[in-house]
Amino acid sequence: MNNIDFKDNTYYQLFLKQQSRQLNIGTLPYNHRIKQLKKLKTAIEATYRDRIIEALHKDLNKPRVEVELTEIYSIINEIKFVKSNLRQWMRKQKVDSPLSMLGSSSYYIYEPKGVCLIISPWNFPFNLTFGPLVSAIAAGNSVIIKPSEMTPNSSALMSEIVKTIFTEEEVALVEGEVETATQLLELPFNHIFFTGSPNVGKIVMSAAAKHLASVTLELGGKSPTIIDNTINIEKAAKRIVWGKFLNAGQICVSPDYVLIEESIKTKFVNACKKWIEHYYTANPIESDSYARIVTEKHFERLQSYLENARSLDANVEVGGDLEANSRYISPTIISNLKEDATLLKEEIFGPILPIVTYNSLDEAIAYVNSKERPLALYIYSKNKRNIKKIVKNTRAGGTCINHNVIHYANHNLPFGGINNSGIGKSHGLFGFKAFSNQRAVVKQYAYGINELLFPPYSALKEKLAKLTVKWF
Ligand code: NAD
Repeated sequence: MNNIDFKDNTYYQLFLKQQSRQLNIGTLPYNHRIKQLKKLKTAIEATYRDRIIEALHKDLNKPRVEVELTEIYSIINEIKFVKSNLRQWMRKQKVDSPLSMLGSSSYYIYEPKGVCLIISPWNFPFNLTFGPLVSAIAAGNSVIIKPSEMTPNSSALMSEIVKTIFTEEEVALVEGEVETATQLLELPFNHIFFTGSPNVGKIVMSAAAKHLASVTLELGGKSPTIIDNTINIEKAAKRIVWGKFLNAGQICVSPDYVLIEESIKTKFVNACKKWIEHYYTANPIESDSYARIVTEKHFERLQSYLENARSLDANVEVGGDLEANSRYISPTIISNLKEDATLLKEEIFGPILPIVTYNSLDEAIAYVNSKERPLALYIYSKNKRNIKKIVKNTRAGGTCINHNVIHYANHNLPFGGINNSGIGKSHGLFGFKAFSNQRAVVKQYAYGINELLFPPYSALKEKLAKLTVKWF
């Protein structure tokens, strides 16, 4: 056990409570896990549905339809997927044994990692808190959750939901700011599941290193969209405008910037303009379908990115309107950006879409590879060779071809990044694995052929060892 003294840590008693019960909770059968997941499903789908919509309206002005699809549906879908697969996942997974292990059988089991910490962000507060929680419960863990302080109405409601469903030994939710997260990160959790920015991800990983806790880091960064000149511009613009301005661009897999073949840039910008008007009217501030920036601080951050771009003579092709009181930034498209513009250096996480042009696909690929590895990379092309070339010559957490964002919704796929955009995967079986230890078991049931090679060693045993290397 750990020799570190935690007596001054506010959350140590809660942690101990969970730790002391975890072996029991972890051995509760399949039915218990399903029962808890069903309770969570009912809470989100029925009991608290209207209040979830209300909380997200207060926190983010999130449109009702977006709440239904990107928060409620995502969690319900994850629970349904787990319910139909969990029995199979919890079975022992038999594997073959090599001839040299004749007389034994082998299998592995998924056992709970133990006491886990989930730290979540504000952009999809329910989805990104309860999503990982579903995987953690499915795998039999005890969990402490720290949601984001930026969306207080959502965090308070999640706390109420957690309290009505779970005992504190099983799941507890702690509200608070950075100081709370810092204190929690001192504790010797068995696994930490963090969703947030790459910078905080590094803090989480170094805290985890102190106890050698395993981590899943679901991070962000700049996700590029590469468009070649073979596409149907209308269709591409329709999908990109949807993916970019959903939740006012505050999505980890939002297309951060577009890399487009020079000759089709103007047509593409015009098509985007048309679709922005179609989705959000010519005056998006009046649209009920358009969200707001989460806090004043984030509004000011985005405002400074725009000012920086303007000071470097960029072209505001569409939008660029701001209204500080309601934290409104209109859907904005910007071109002619200098490489040192903040919009091309930092993750945008807001409704501003920079357009960068290229002349050859190699140039576009080199541009992507000169930056950190992204969480998502989107390709719009009808040319199979171009698609293959981009996929083969780049690295990314996930990719959609001729669409964006939707890969998140398929629970048969692993979701997560690579290096700067994340470590580990979530959703479905991948989420269950993130919260499980794969324990290897070998059962010896008869005389083991390998016993022939136990000491004392002789010339015959040396021959047998050589035969084993050659044939078994
Ligand atoms: P953030 O990293 O600022 O905060 C995330 C969580 O970490 C919050 O609960 C916060 O309280 C906590 N936190 C903040 N600073 C901390 C510190 N110094 N020490 C310990 N904990 C700290 O991220 P955010 O602003 O909430 O979310 C935006 C970021 O999250 C973007 O980079 C986005 O791409 C990423 N994101 C990733 C995913 C994904 O699934 N990969 C999903 C959503 C958001």
